[in-house]
Amino acid sequence: VISPGAPDIPAPLANLKIQHTKIFINNEWHESVSGKKFPVINPATEEVICQVEEGDKADVDKAVKAARQAFQIGSPWRTMDASERGRLLYKLAELIERDRLLLATMESINAGKIFSTAYLMDLGVSIKALQYYAGWADKIHGQTIPSDGNIFTYTRREPIGVCGQIIPWNGPLIMLIWKIAPALSCGNTVIVKPAEQTPLTALHVASLIKETGFPPGVVNIVPGYGPTAGAAISSHMDIDKVAFTGSTEVGKLIKEAAGKSNLKRVTLELGGKSPCIVFADADLDSAIEFAHQGVFFHQGQICVAASRLFVEESIYDEFVRRSVERAQKYVLGNPLESEISQGPQIDKDQHDKILGLIESGKKEGAKLECGGGRWGNKGFFIQPTVFSNVTDEMRIATEEIFGPVQQIMKFKCTDEVIKRANNTPYGLAAGVFTKDLDKALTVSSALQAGVVWVNCYLVVSAQCPFGGFKMSGNGREMGEYGLHEYTELKTVAVKISQKNS
Ligand code: ADP
Ligand code: MG
Repeated sequence: VISPGAPDIPAPLANLKIQHTKIFINNEWHESVSGKKFPVINPATEEVICQVEEGDKADVDKAVKAARQAFQIGSPWRTMDASERGRLLYKLAELIERDRLLLATMESINAGKIFSTAYLMDLGVSIKALQYYAGWADKIHGQTIPSDGNIFTYTRREPIGVCGQIIPWNGPLIMLIWKIAPALSCGNTVIVKPAEQTPLTALHVASLIKETGFPPGVVNIVPGYGPTAGAAISSHMDIDKVAFTGSTEVGKLIKEAAGKSNLKRVTLELGGKSPCIVFADADLDSAIEFAHQGVFFHQGQICVAASRLFVEESIYDEFVRRSVERAQKYVLGNPLESEISQGPQIDKDQHDKILGLIESGKKEGAKLECGGGRWGNKGFFIQPTVFSNVTDEMRIATEEIFGPVQQIMKFKCTDEVIKRANNTPYGLAAGVFTKDLDKALTVSSALQAGVVWVNCYLVVSAQCPFGGFKMSGNGREMGEYGLHEYTELKTVAVKISQKNS
């Protein structure tokens, strides 16, 4: 995931000061209408980092008014050249690059990210996504259409309007940028609600939005909880679209709230239980490492986690043995420290949920090869865990775990493994490892997933669409398709005196 030849990584910022803890509306900092604040916790130490203003419905209403005002016909934002929107996005990318060390340190402290990963991956992906959509801003075209009659017809791709964006805690900065970059490239205005666990990098970026020179009200950031601030967004009568990344359970609530309110457009990027299939002819060293990274990356807290690993019978025992050796290499501890390779889970709820699923695996008869419990007595750490002899109906093989827990299953033939891989309500990602081209293509077209990785895993980049089949979501993010989710298509038919071919 981290490319070799990456730049040297500096030490994390010592004595990080948290400057921004308020609600960001109209390019100004606001206290919450209720007067409430909530604590932000460092998951490695369980210490409170700071208190942040707690947004709720009244604050969302204020943000919607600002975003609506900024979206009015004739406003600075609506009359701006598209190329200027692009320039602002490039400038925001530059300011994020300038503050890379601060943002990476903050992400590591607040989200439990290994510092080097935060610095290289989270910051790198965020900057590239901004640059990618900056380039698109003045390349979003309609068509002219040879319609019947003396009519000149053209289409326009217009911004949808005020977009609510609700994001999770596993990649706080990446998720923020994945949401705001395409929305702003197309000319929308946004209200972002960061996850309650991880509001800090979003609030720092808010300060950069102002410094960049975006007009007031274009970007608003309202930290707060899901059932309050989040629900106020999804059920709001004056929000035109909601984009959500998070659990399938909450995704259903969002769609329901959109249906019950104003039928706002909805895009969802939800959970997964992604299969990774390793055939006996695969390059074993590479398959073991990708399959391992696929489920252990960021403590397993990724929606595309390869949490159902299917390995062909003849290589099964060796694969399990080497996967266990790999998993046992981790050094757990504070993710800011350079020798640490595994950090904490995000909070106690997630930590306890993972331990519950591990217990279910033991009880249901899977073989615990290593790990299987909590680590240390402070912070939300879990030992890297590998289960073999896993069968398809076990809870660890059907439910999203979101933790450092690998399930290894055995298969005999291609038809069988395709059926088993697709036997899930999810369809986010999948992996296939084989040197046989025909097998790779056959299996990738049969798998029901928004992305299939062949002889690799976790390859995500700004140019490529990302999203889920089935209950893993609706719509796509990134790439050109990601733009379509942030525009309305308008057909304009103009009567003329006489058309000519
Ligand atoms: P997790 O269970 O991993 O915390 P969630 O789906 O609950 O994942 O959270 C993802 C985001 O959705 C967070 O920003 C959270 O605050 C928000 N959220 C949670 N519940 C709701 C809800 N009922 N309505 C809107 N947003 C919600
Ligand atoms: Mg939740």
